[in-house]
Amino acid sequence: MPQEQRTVPLTFLDGTTGEAVATGNNAAWNCPCCRALPLLGMSGLASGVTDGFRVDCPDCGRHYYVVPDGGNRKRTLQVDQVP
Ligand SMILES: [Zn+2]
Repeated sequence: MPQEQRTVPLTFLDGTTGEAVATGNNAAWNCPCCRALPLLGMSGLASGVTDGFRVDCPDCGRHYYVVPDGGNRKRTLQVDQVP
């Protein structure tokens, strides 16, 4: 069975939103700094963002967290920019 390409919400600290694509507990999205390649991350812990699961854009330094759906490292629910 192919890996379903789900569209999930992407939220930024300024309240704007976008879209990320997810398959399983992975997600990919484009950073608004216009980095040529997308960012890619896996879902983290249900308790919230931790250093080991945070995704930092190498070009602009924005931080992101791939939110799991209902438990640690479960399927991707959404992607949030975090401080
Ligand atoms: Zn960036």
